[in-house]
Amino acid sequence: MHVLLVEDSATLRCAMTAYILDAGHQALVAESGEQALQLLENSVVDLIIMDVEMPGLNGFETTRLIREWLKGFWLPIIFVTGKNDEKSYTDGIEAGGDDYLIKPISSVILQAKIHAMERIIQMRDKLSQLNDKLEKLSQTDSLTQVYNRRAFDDIAQKYWLAATRRHSSISVLMLDVDHFKLYNDHYGHPAGDSCLVQVSAAIKASLLRPEDTLGRYGGEEFIVILPDTDRQGAEQLASTIRRNTEELQIEHKGSSTAAVVSISVGGATCNSTMHCSLEELIKQADQALYKSKQAGRNRVTTEDACAHKTVLIVDNDQLTLEIVTDLLREHCNIVTADDGQECLNIARNILPDLILLDTHMLGMAGDEACRQLKGTPRTASIPVIFISSDDHNTQIKRVKKVGANDCVQKPLDKDTLLNKVSRYLL
Ligand code: GH3
Ligand code: MG
Ligand code: MG
Ligand code: MG
Repeated sequence: MHVLLVEDSATLRCAMTAYILDAGHQALVAESGEQALQLLENSVVDLIIMDVEMPGLNGFETTRLIREWLKGFWLPIIFVTGKNDEKSYTDGIEAGGDDYLIKPISSVILQAKIHAMERIIQMRDKLSQLNDKLEKLSQTDSLTQVYNRRAFDDIAQKYWLAATRRHSSISVLMLDVDHFKLYNDHYGHPAGDSCLVQVSAAIKASLLRPEDTLGRYGGEEFIVILPDTDRQGAEQLASTIRRNTEELQIEHKGSSTAAVVSISVGGATCNSTMHCSLEELIKQADQALYKSKQAGRNRVTTEDACAHKTVLIVDNDQLTLEIVTDLLREHCNIVTADDGQECLNIARNILPDLILLDTHMLGMAGDEACRQLKGTPRTASIPVIFISSDDHNTQIKRVKKVGANDCVQKPLDKDTLLNKVSRYLL
């Protein structure tokens, strides 16, 4: 053991150092409390033998500082003192000492005390190892040895907060084994278990950064959180995982998707956590996974989550649609339609945050569509901005007549349009 001896008397220092060495331990020596604190900071110490009466910091004061500094970690401290009254004894234990020896001290007693403390230290270390094991066990899914859902949620929450602090992007992947029920039905549950073990190992092996964290989210569903990862990065990784799973070449006779076990992946990325929450990000990844399943399985779908609001642009002029889409793409999710009836259908379904509506279209015109939107409780609160080449006065009259919120004039001025759009999206 490394024993730190703190003693201001040179004679005692010399004698006790000899006892410590004689018992087969290594001795570090400090002449004062202050020096002891310094040594403690820079060296390995398993046990401290501390004089009480010293100039400067006395033994009790030094001990209090050490206990404060070590927080919960227990390091044995034995006081050695000339004061043998009961009050000094209880004060020593109160100050954080573990034993209290009265000078003069024989080598036998000191060595026996060190030996006793050594046994407690060993128990402390065993207990702490067991604690670590238990903690790991409580965080791990017993079948696949990846994080269980609870542990994953804790880690993901920490990454989310870090992304918020650093204004960095963060992505989530949801992964689900395709036709796994049929796999169990065909090969039996134990084979199903073994398949999950292999798939989870393939997912884990595909993750390259230490922060990329994999959890088992449900039966045959896994989740990965990727800090500092944009949509392109998430898409790339998702594709790698999908490919690596396929390349395991686990035969799957029951699958209508592929001859081997495959997974579907949904990814969602949040570039700014400001307008989003972790729950929403996970929900969005889940929706993307659903799309992968719908589109035929064994594929990847990724989406930008949260940060963007949805704008429905309705115009039968293709060029205007393209110009407006280009202009707003980086600020919002864009959905387009080219006639009033389609506008109504989409608006009822997805409830966009804003509608840009051309007034002159084939089929149902914009003013009629707006009148119906505003007259229906479900869509009444969606702001509508008319786009038209009519002169300003005509437009204003129309806005008032059918309850639209604003208008912009063609040919479109980019700044004016952006200004008006952002006013309704805040
Ligand atoms: P889809 O492609 O749409 O995801 O179809 P699926 O059959 O994979 O999905 P479904 O949710 O219908 O079935 C999931 C199956 O996964 C059902 C369940 O018995 C099985 N499962 C869940 N956990 C385990 C597990 O730990 N071991 C085994 N062997 N099977 C599991
Ligand atoms: Mg002294
Ligand atoms: Mg499945
Ligand atoms: Mg599933």
